Amino acid sequence: MTLLKITKSGRKKSTLIKAVVANSAGEIFELEGYAAVGMAGSLRRPLTLDQTINMPYGGELMLLPDRRPVVFNMETGLLETLKVNPYIPGEQIYPVAAFNSPGYVTMYAGAYSEDKEAGYLPLFSYGAVGWHKDKFRSAVIRVDRERRQDLRLMKTEDVAVGIHKMQKEMPDNRLRKHLEKCALKYGCPAAKNFFLGRYEAPLPTSGHCNARCLGCLSFQKSGKISISQERIAFQPTSAEIAEVALQHIRKVNKSVVSFGQGCEGDPLLAADVIAPAIAKIRSVTSRGTINMNTNGSRPDTLKRLFDAGLDSIRISLNSIRRECYDIYFQPKGYDFNDVIKSIDIAISRKKFVAINYLNSPGFTDTPQELDALIAFIRQHRINMIQWRNLNFDPLRYWSIMESVAQHGKPVGMQKVLYRIQKLFPDVKYGYFNPPKEKFK
Ligand code: SF4
Repeated sequence: MTLLKITKSGRKKSTLIKAVVANSAGEIFELEGYAAVGMAGSLRRPLTLDQTINMPYGGELMLLPDRRPVVFNMETGLLETLKVNPYIPGEQIYPVAAFNSPGYVTMYAGAYSEDKEAGYLPLFSYGAVGWHKDKFRSAVIRVDRERRQDLRLMKTEDVAVGIHKMQKEMPDNRLRKHLEKCALKYGCPAAKNFFLGRYEAPLPTSGHCNARCLGCLSFQKSGKISISQERIAFQPTSAEIAEVALQHIRKVNKSVVSFGQGCEGDPLLAADVIAPAIAKIRSVTSRGTINMNTNGSRPDTLKRLFDAGLDSIRISLNSIRRECYDIYFQPKGYDFNDVIKSIDIAISRKKFVAINYLNSPGFTDTPQELDALIAFIRQHRINMIQWRNLNFDPLRYWSIMESVAQHGKPVGMQKVLYRIQKLFPDVKYGYFNPPKEKFK
């Protein structure tokens, strides 16, 4: 995790990048004479070279069904919503967006408009993408240089060797078995890293949650959106958790083991097995960093886990404003104050505190949200912001947020990153949970 110098966005004339679209066969191609357009709330902006970088390795391109691309006609200088290919009469075309790889913050969503029959988009982030000199260009800024989830370093055959080895070393451990499914069926990079003996290992534990996030990857009641992975169907014992964690800590230098994964509910609801597991790990070794990704809903439970030896927490927030938090997280039996109280307890205990800030350009970069973030950090000196692109239908998200709060014109994610870094230079930026060796 490096402190990246975020430059102030001085607007200078720059080359427009070409729009890319797809046809019904899923073939992606550039549109001569048209520029790509980025979208942020009500803002639509033609994309230029200086606002984009070559699409980072590992990113995926997606066709957006029942939607039409919004592009910039370079001849007329106007924005257009295209239904058909201007060069092949009758050929239906669709917008293309980039699901960028970890460590890159989306500056703009890909611009599109919905057809009447459009449903919710699946749970991904939809970054703006274009074409320049035979390369795809993404509108992103890098906030973490660590190659923790670089797929080029996570070969399937090496994962298989690791799985085989762990089967021998922990034949009856159900958590080890669950992580095999995560690595092989869901392609979970955290589970793969456990079998590869790299960086951070996941310790999913809780089948339950006291929030109902609109974008929850493992639980979707409405049926309008499909889940990305099933929730863990059993509760591992403290012994099983400690065994997996110690395996990783023994093998990996500057290791991190983390509760709170995409395939589970919230780990605070499983504190009865987690607290003894942490105590067990710490009774064996002081090495490694024990981290918890959580919604921070139970401050008293968190105290117990800190007493047991928890080193760091990462608390998820889509917004620093209660009304915008509540409509997204839909808390059950807790409220926003509890989350803030958890952060304050961790700070008072000198634990490393990160927020998992679910970023959506068009909302996160509105003056109201930026002011709230600045006021929050002034009052609650967290150690790190993990800028995570929100995996949720952008147009639907903005209209949901607009339904509970007024928002001014987005100032741009680059400006947000720059301002926060300028005001709070000691607040780290990144994407991954750091080991304690890197807390300072
Ligand atoms: S806090 Fe996590 S597990 Fe709970 S609903 Fe939200 S995303 Fe899902």
